Amino acid sequence: MSRQPFLPFKVNLDTFIDDLKARLDANRERIAKLLSQEKKTYDSFVKPFEMMDEYLEQFFTPMSHLHSVNNSEKTQEVYTAALPLLTEYGTWVGQHLDIYNAFREVRDREYDLLDPERQRVIDLNIQGFELSGAHLDEQSKARLAEINLRKSELSNRFTQNLLDATNAFEYVITDPKDVEGIPESDLAAAAFTTDDGKTAWKFTLQMPSYIAYMTYGPNRSIRETIYRAYVTRAPENAEIIDEILALRQESARLLGFETYADYSLATKMAKDSDTVLRFLDELAEASLPQGRRELETLREFAGIDLQSYDTAYYSDKLKKERYDIDEEAYRPYFEQNAVVEGLFELLNRLFGVSVRPAEGVELWHEKATAHDLYVDDTLRARLYLDLEARPSKRGGAWMHNWQSHCTDEEGNEQLASAFIVCNFPPSSEENPSLLRHDDIVTLFHETGHAVHHLLSTVNENGVSGVGGVEWDAVEFPSQFLENFAYEPQVLKRFAKHRETGEIISDTMLDKLVETKNFQSATAMLRQLEFAMFDFEIHLRDRPDVQAVLDEVRERTALLKPPAYNRFQNGFAHIFGGGYAAGYYSYKWAEVLSADAFFAIVDQGLFDTKLGRDYLDIILARGGSESMRVLFYKLMGREPDTGALLRLSGIE
Ligand SMILES: [Zn+2]
Repeated sequence: MSRQPFLPFKVNLDTFIDDLKARLDANRERIAKLLSQEKKTYDSFVKPFEMMDEYLEQFFTPMSHLHSVNNSEKTQEVYTAALPLLTEYGTWVGQHLDIYNAFREVRDREYDLLDPERQRVIDLNIQGFELSGAHLDEQSKARLAEINLRKSELSNRFTQNLLDATNAFEYVITDPKDVEGIPESDLAAAAFTTDDGKTAWKFTLQMPSYIAYMTYGPNRSIRETIYRAYVTRAPENAEIIDEILALRQESARLLGFETYADYSLATKMAKDSDTVLRFLDELAEASLPQGRRELETLREFAGIDLQSYDTAYYSDKLKKERYDIDEEAYRPYFEQNAVVEGLFELLNRLFGVSVRPAEGVELWHEKATAHDLYVDDTLRARLYLDLEARPSKRGGAWMHNWQSHCTDEEGNEQLASAFIVCNFPPSSEENPSLLRHDDIVTLFHETGHAVHHLLSTVNENGVSGVGGVEWDAVEFPSQFLENFAYEPQVLKRFAKHRETGEIISDTMLDKLVETKNFQSATAMLRQLEFAMFDFEIHLRDRPDVQAVLDEVRERTALLKPPAYNRFQNGFAHIFGGGYAAGYYSYKWAEVLSADAFFAIVDQGLFDTKLGRDYLDIILARGGSESMRVLFYKLMGREPDTGALLRLSGIE
């Protein structure tokens, strides 16, 4: 067995679409040929089928990466032309019943003889087909197709109604007194010149604008007007919600599940509905006492009969009075290169991974860098960093996996590779790139995703690295690493003032944690309210949505929102997006990450046995086993919600 070299980063935009078409045609032919085999086995059918996916990803990823980081008219044109081709191909494969039957044939023939990784590939493929109804009779299939079509129409309408309502509202302020205390940048965004040449300010329900007035707007009655407009958007969505819920329930039944919540859990780590409900209840119960204290403190501070449209405003004032954190004072301690070096050192001391520069690698931009990851002096993976903002780069931060660790059809080992992209302040000859603490948290988070993908030792690409990882466990490794960005022992190793060389003080570090945990029980209860509401309505048949929400609020909302509040009509995550019966996943993954994090901290943080176990069990095994099993192997017990409370400073 030999090892394949890392792929060179090369994209030919001129020939890309033709090349893609040729590949997809070749794949279709290959699939037909694989299916025509008399006797299908893992080696003769599944392996080549899976590797086709891998090679297609390897071909497509550099182009979509380029589209995100060096955007141009040309990349847009190519990307836009490529998407429908891929979607069409994906749909063709996804509905190809002979492929489904071929997987079942292999399962029946040799499942017990296969190693667990291969068994998991078969299980997940068959499950994927069955969750889209491949195994149903013709009549059920036709009904399912009808339901799916209607559901996507309704979701689109939900989103569109919300968008229209958001855009339909604006509030114009002419009296400077009513904008006093709003930060300059928010004011600049709101300012315009009226017909008679005066300056006025326009606030809308768009995110930054709405948040700005709710947080800083000094006029209480304007705050209420804007709040009321926000929480009563799109009343026509109430009917859409009822129909979506009925259709989800019907489709879940057709597919053999009792409720839509059960259907959702089929692809998740959480075992069953009871587990999720108990989990959310436990966190709520534990957060309520502190939540009450936080609200009481805020009431006393505000000195008024506090309402929902007051909380952000007074919270901000209270936070400033207590902590008065000046982000700019931190920047000189967080020079980008020093932070990256500190991150690499952390990987070394946590997991024994050495990161070394990869020499002579040609990349897409002069600011991008390539690094090789070694474990015990064995080359394991390649990581590409592209951290600085530029006009041609999409905003935000993300990890994008490119190659997956696996063995190919000839038995050669292929190593993994991935990109981390951020938008940090650009460096120049004269000025270094100085980060905010939030930037460090972001970088650690994305690196957590990256090492999950890169340090896999799994031989089957479909369940290697982040492949095949359950939806509610995907954020576990990223949030896990993110937690170290608040750890004094970690920060003190690299946070030196770039002029004085002085190491960041304990007071400054304490402030970071205190600010993070400011009103943490209130924030926790709010997220739990969303999660419980989402889960409860998907557990019932034709629920009375408002009644369920009211009932959940009885358990979670310490400050009762006004009776006109119709938050659900704007809950796009679950009615316009893909989070249905899955909103709990945020908290779920946070518990896993906090639990593993404290276990390592309590063993002494650096060079612990548990750190190495985390590498060998969680990172190395990727999606080849359920995270439920892997987590148990790591910790020797079920996840402990107490860890998240501890991390959030909830007592
Ligand atoms: Zn993430």
